[in-house]
Amino acid sequence: MTGAADTGDDRPADVAVIGAGVVGTAIARALACQDVSCVLIDAENDVGTGTSKANTAILHTGFDAVPGSQESTLLRRGSVLLADYARRAGIPVERTGALLVAWTPEQQAELPAVEDKAHRNGVTDVRRIGAGELYRREPHLGPGALGALEIPGESIICPWTTPLAYATQALAAGARLRLRSRVTGIRAGATEHQVVTGTGVVRCRWVVNAAGLHSDTIDAMMGGGEFTICPRRGELIVFDKLARPLLSSILLPVPTARSKGVLVAPTVYGNVLLGPTADDIPDRGDVATTGPGLASLMEAGRRILPRLVAEEVTASYAGLRAATADRDYQIWVDGSRRYACVAGIRSTGLSASLGIAEHVTGLLAEAGLRLAGRPEPDPPVMPYIGQAGTRPYQDAARIAADPDYGRIVCHCERVTRGEIRDALASPLPPADVDGLRRRTRVLNGRCQGFYCAATVAALFAGAGPGAAAPAGQRPAHGPMATGSGRRAPRGWRSAAPR
Ligand SMILES: Cc1cc2nc3c(=O)[nH]c(=O)nc-3n(C[C@H](O)[C@H](O)[C@H](O)COP(=O)(O)OP(=O)(O)OC[C@H]3O[C@@H](n4cnc5c(N)ncnc54)[C@H](O)[C@@H]3O)c2cc1C
Repeated sequence: MTGAADTGDDRPADVAVIGAGVVGTAIARALACQDVSCVLIDAENDVGTGTSKANTAILHTGFDAVPGSQESTLLRRGSVLLADYARRAGIPVERTGALLVAWTPEQQAELPAVEDKAHRNGVTDVRRIGAGELYRREPHLGPGALGALEIPGESIICPWTTPLAYATQALAAGARLRLRSRVTGIRAGATEHQVVTGTGVVRCRWVVNAAGLHSDTIDAMMGGGEFTICPRRGELIVFDKLARPLLSSILLPVPTARSKGVLVAPTVYGNVLLGPTADDIPDRGDVATTGPGLASLMEAGRRILPRLVAEEVTASYAGLRAATADRDYQIWVDGSRRYACVAGIRSTGLSASLGIAEHVTGLLAEAGLRLAGRPEPDPPVMPYIGQAGTRPYQDAARIAADPDYGRIVCHCERVTRGEIRDALASPLPPADVDGLRRRTRVLNGRCQGFYCAATVAALFAGAGPGAAAPAGQRPAHGPMATGSGRRAPRGWRSAAPR
């Protein structure tokens, strides 16, 4: 258990939040900041290791959501809240804007409808631009684009720092974090629920189900069973930083009813992303990339930004959307069962996370959960891992005060010994090298750890939290664990050292 120690008394927690992705951590943060005693439970060894670590990392405005849907409302609210929170918490965000490009007369004819939809979603600063302006702004765009819709508010964000910031704040406010604790059953009771996990039973008055791809299983444990999660895999390709000057904005396709389509976007780490695909698959754990998936992305990329596909590929990965038969989020609170279901957060959960948390907290209060009603405390200031701002290796004053910020360990991503040391000593330390990667960018660059993995592993083993961790909570040491969301491409040329 990380965070405030067990109280030792016999009282159940007010709330157990199942799932420590970006949604569950946001909810735990909101509750803990309102003096609600809260246990955040996850099957894995860290927060944010599910879909939350493997997405396209766009802070959406919600311009293309279905007007009037729960997603539209919470996305709109969430994106405003997260933009502000990120600024205060040091979460990397860049307001690059997006251009939704029409490549065919049919797509061009769709633009007024997309513009109208944006207006109905409250995103009123969109505007149509012609081919001339489009090519002036994006000179590397492939030939044949007919025009675009500009959405100035679309931004790119760090998907890793976001749940870490939420969880860090939740812990500071008194929440407890129970990792490596897969929920295998729930004994729902009249006065309390007993959540059975791999590391023991958690007693609580309320259950919040934020289990992402497994939220239907948790729902069934609470006597529900009204929806089924159908994983929809999205594969993405990460291009080297040398590709970054090829575009200024996020380049979006005209969306279809099924998916937002394949886009090209800068990342806050200075790379370029191409993806995602959208394939319904039966296996909720299958985050392998595929030859056909990557080939289809390259074909799309060749049309959108021809020079991109000639650039070096750094990595590829896949994430799974928690799709349901209903396109909208599945969020409700049942006061009689003291249960909140927060499921089906398919394609926009990162952007909507704070809106979802605010909404769920409000529903819980209406259903009888007591909140302190106090103003929100300031967020924690997280280590900055973006490319646009000043990193420790660029900060002469910081290096003068502490030379470890001048000692670069990962040269591709310019990560210093000081940053690694800080991450290992943070209130929510990484449990393995993959967790360290999400906190610092170490091993993330074009060599994918070829030059620094041994040093990083040694630093992790020497200074990692394992020695101090209680039995059963020891971090899984080992070489470069790439984790589920970031695998070496299958059937793809190696992203190996150059
Ligand atoms: C390809 C792709 C691109 C996307 N792009 C964007 C984007 O650009 N912008 C955006 O806003 N959103 C995007 N999304 C959507 C976004 O990533 C998700 O909506 C969001 O991450 C969902 O968060 P979550 O917390 O609900 O789920 P998760 O992150 O999956 O968290 C659920 C957690 O529950 C835990 N869990 C599951 N079962 C159990 C159990 N039995 N016991 C204990 N713990 C359990 C898991 O370990 C996991 O940590 C994208 C998604 C995909 C797949």
